[in-house]
Amino acid sequence: MNSSATASGVQLPVYLDNHATTPVDPRVLQAMLPFLSNKFGNAASHSHQFGWDAEAAVNLARKNIATLIGASLSEIVITSGATESDNLAILGVAEANRNKGNHIITAATEHKAVLDSCRHLETLGFRITRLPVGSDGRIDLEQLRTAMSPDTILVSIMAANNEIGVIQPLEEIGELCRERDVLFHSDAVQALARMPFDVNKLNIDLASLTAHKCYGPKGCGALYVRNGVKVAPLIHGGGHEHGLRSGTLNVPGIVGFGAACEIALRELPEESCRIAGLRNRLLKRLQDELDELSVNGSMEHRLPGNLNLCFHQVDGETLMTAIKQVAVSSGSACSSDKVEPSHVLKGIGLSDEDAGSSIRFGVGRFNTEAEIEFAGACVIEAVKKLRELSTV
Ligand code: PLP
Repeated sequence: MNSSATASGVQLPVYLDNHATTPVDPRVLQAMLPFLSNKFGNAASHSHQFGWDAEAAVNLARKNIATLIGASLSEIVITSGATESDNLAILGVAEANRNKGNHIITAATEHKAVLDSCRHLETLGFRITRLPVGSDGRIDLEQLRTAMSPDTILVSIMAANNEIGVIQPLEEIGELCRERDVLFHSDAVQALARMPFDVNKLNIDLASLTAHKCYGPKGCGALYVRNGVKVAPLIHGGGHEHGLRSGTLNVPGIVGFGAACEIALRELPEESCRIAGLRNRLLKRLQDELDELSVNGSMEHRLPGNLNLCFHQVDGETLMTAIKQVAVSSGSACSSDKVEPSHVLKGIGLSDEDAGSSIRFGVGRFNTEAEIEFAGACVIEAVKKLRELSTV
């Protein structure tokens, strides 16, 4: 990538797409490097030092992942990322609990990894309820209560949305599920290391996690499975991960994931305040200088770094081209190869046109005040210019 710097020393382009992925923290990279060179052992080799070193490193990482979410070591199943974790949670619970019922409840604004897993189950005869959300992006607890029936086996509601950053009422959902003896799965990818997330406080039975959204490497994730919860494996082989996910462990990736969680454990409270401050500064600057601007989803129940804005009467794709030095996203990064209005923005009631005029900003650990000022100035200039052009 060609990079340059502004007069005020801002390195270009400015990365403000931290919901799509995050850069690897240099401390995470340092922790990983030995496991990409001389410490190359297979964590399942029990007969020599190479294997013992790898196993010890995996155990330490597993402990750090577990501690960040209030779980125990035995409850962390390592996967290749959250797409696999979501599939394992939903398909695995469905298969293992079919004798109890065939109904699953989810929300219309979930990630495709959840929605498509549920759609697949429909083809196998399961009944799926997709709850709508309000204009704030949150589900209605009364609708959830009404949707539950004696054959409901699982509720899958994400912790925080990847597009609008809206946090669901997790504690209340968890209580309701516990009352009705229904398993509660939450895709916690965007919440991990960005807000407090404790599986016991929230009564969560399964949670999908991934390393690359919290300054760890890509291709490594985990599924939290509460002790005693029945899940059928998707991948069969050597019986790794208590038989739930066979395959040689990605030791460098797991070590990186663990290091990322350990850093988050120490730095989360201070970091989330700092990031929220930067996000609020960007919003204020844009609101001060632009009209016809609205925030998509609840501002109150929102991740600290997220901003999803509709620049009315401006085409989002054109705007992104005009601000090439600022990396943002016009919809969910995971489905960005499809040019369709975002199902999340449609889900909160936006028209196709307003969804197409929306941009997602994701502020993260390595963003600075100078970068936020630069990004704000770029967006303001581009929006004003595009609006002027559309009126001539
Ligand atoms: N769930 C959510 C909410 C996400 O944001 C993403 C990635 O964008 C995923 C699942 C998929 O995660 P992974 O990239 O680890 O497969």
